[in-house]
Parts: sequence; structure tokens; C-alpha cells
Amino acid sequence: MKNFPVSIGETVKATFLERPNRFLVRCIAEGLGVIDAYLPNPGRLWELLLPGASLYLSPAGPSGGIHPSKRKSNYTVLAVERNGYPIFLHTHLTNQVARYLIERKLIPPLEGAEIVKEEVLHGRSRFDFLLRETGRDLYLEVKSCTLFGNGVAMFPDAVTERGKRHLLGLAEMGRGGIRSAMLFIVHYPHVRWFMPDFHTDYDFSLNLLKVSNDLMILPVAIEWKPDLSIGQGVKILEIPWDYLRQEIEDRGSYLLVLQLGKKELIEIGQRGKVMFQKGYYIYVGSAMNSLRARIRRHSQQGKKEHWHIDYLTQVADGSVSLPIRSSQRHECEIAQALSSIMKSGPPGFGSSDCRCSTHLFWSEKNPLHTGPFHDLLQRFRMRHP
Ligand SMILES: [Zn+2]
Repeated sequence: MKNFPVSIGETVKATFLERPNRFLVRCIAEGLGVIDAYLPNPGRLWELLLPGASLYLSPAGPSGGIHPSKRKSNYTVLAVERNGYPIFLHTHLTNQVARYLIERKLIPPLEGAEIVKEEVLHGRSRFDFLLRETGRDLYLEVKSCTLFGNGVAMFPDAVTERGKRHLLGLAEMGRGGIRSAMLFIVHYPHVRWFMPDFHTDYDFSLNLLKVSNDLMILPVAIEWKPDLSIGQGVKILEIPWDYLRQEIEDRGSYLLVLQLGKKELIEIGQRGKVMFQKGYYIYVGSAMNSLRARIRRHSQQGKKEHWHIDYLTQVADGSVSLPIRSSQRHECEIAQALSSIMKSGPPGFGSSDCRCSTHLFWSEKNPLHTGPFHDLLQRFRMRHP
């Protein structure tokens, strides 16, 4: 691959089926049948790894730092297609992508910088690069970003303690007079804004706001070509700070995804017994104060039932909570949108204070594995100024 510093070699196209665990995907490829491939990416990747998505695999693949004996497959996932573009997933190669962009001077704010060293220790943390620019050191940490929608890219797509530690470490350096930067490489060209994902990682996002003057925060969008070479155009993304200061607060709406393993008659307080079908339920709620505490409350067992949903969470198998933080209450608007992609649950469920017919929705299949659900989630989460 002439435009990529790593020799990727030939790629195999495959169709995604499922992700049995965090580092393994099952897929089907022409002439190979069903195969497993190693996924060098710890992110959730929910909106990318949907059944039917096209994958780019490397047949032997770069080892990416994984000892061969620990690898369960001969294939490695390099990228997944979304909107017709390969989205690069191999996070072990992120530094090589960054090196390529820096050495070719494709990132304007780092044009004058030379790479001195990779994997450099400072204090108790290890950072990706030490650069030198006009005789001064610049510590750089690189993050790979594949979560985007509605013209917005967001990071991280799952809570990252490590990311927070790096951010605070760099900020501390900055306050001590050592220049530092966090480079976010967004693997999709058609975005304009970059934001911390305050829905998923509230702590990281609050910290990013807090230290924004202590380090350089540099989000760039790149384009991957079908041959997995990198396009020449690198776009610097805008960070809408004022908008973020207004939106990053512990308030907004949330979705609770619950699973019922069998058809069941469940007592819902004064409503009496209600029949629930086997399958997946999504409940929409809101808390314009202490959203985190509200969501935490839903996962507590043995609490006193207060809302309709409390009776269901005591019986359901497990739940995934999805905060949708916002300065506005969007709960009913979200319920309305869900009613167009799922079946309505019992009338009046969770909606005694509003005009919606219900705030509970049902589907036979897991909505987290469907495109329309993620489109909906992104429409409400990826708002911009
Ligand atoms: Zn409502």
C-alpha cells in the first residue's frame, strides 16, 4: 500500500455476523465460509459492527503486538465499511497512522514538528510521542476515533480510565510549562465537529472541559481509500466549546434496554398484572437533575418500587443504560421516535405525566444490533450548535 507506512498486503473482504467477545468477530467470506477474526479494538463499535457490515481483513496480518500464541485466528480486522468508506479499526496501528501524518506534514498545527521518540515516559505515564518544534519539546498522545454521525465525531465510545489519565497527565505538564497535545484521529472525512462523548463518558468529558487551556486538543479527520491508503486531505475539526459548556451537565434523558427471557405476567403496581412478551424492551426516562444517580437507581435490586419501570427491572435479565445528556428534556420526542422503529409496550407505561401513549417499547430482536436504532440514538446524542 503505497500511501500507508505499514505493509498491509492483500486484504480479504468479509461480511460481519457477530462479535462473540470483545476481541473476536465472526464473519463470512467468499471461498472461506464462516471464519473468526481478531479485532484489535476495545471500543463498543455498536453502530459499525452491525450484521451485514463489510469488513476488511488481513489474512496473516500485522501482529499488532499480540503474541501469536494468544491469537485465536489467522485473520485480523483492519477496517469496517460505513457510508461506503472504510473506517480503520486496527488501534495498534494508530501510532503508525499518526507518524505518517506528522512526517508528511499533513496536520497544519504540527507542520513544524519532528518526531524525536515514540513511547516516551514522563512521570508515571507513557505517552505516544515526543516531538520537537523550534527547539521545544512537545508530548503527544494519540487517540483513534471511529464514532461519528450527524457531522459530529465523538470520543470515547466506551468509558476510558486510561484516556482520562493521559488527559490529566498532559494537562499537568502543560501547567508546568511543558507543551503537550492530544491528537484525535477521526477515521471518517465527512464530519465538521469534534466533541467528547459526554453521554457515554461523563468524567472524561468534564475533565476535557476543565483542562482545555492546559494542552492542545487537536481533532483531525482523515479519509481511508478502498485500498486502505490514506487520502491527502486532512481536516481540522471544530470543537464547539460554548455548546459543550452548556450541554455537559448531569441531566437529560436515558434509555434502558431490558431483556425478558420468556413471556411473563408481571405485576405493575396498581395497574395489576400485565402480560409481557419475550424479547427486548426499551424504556425512556429523564432526570433534569442527577441523571447519573437516576440511572444507577434502576440497576439496584430490592429497591422500593416507585415507577412502573421499577417492577419490570426487578424481573428482567439485565440491562444496558444509555444516557442522552442534554440541557433540554427530549424524553417524549425520543419516545415518539422509538414508536416508529419498535412496537409499543403497555399503554400508559411510564407516561402518566405526559401525552405519550407509552414510554416502553418492545422488539423481538436486540435493538442494539440494528441500524435504525443506532441512527435514532445518534440523532439525539450527536446534536451540534
Ligand atoms: Zn411522553
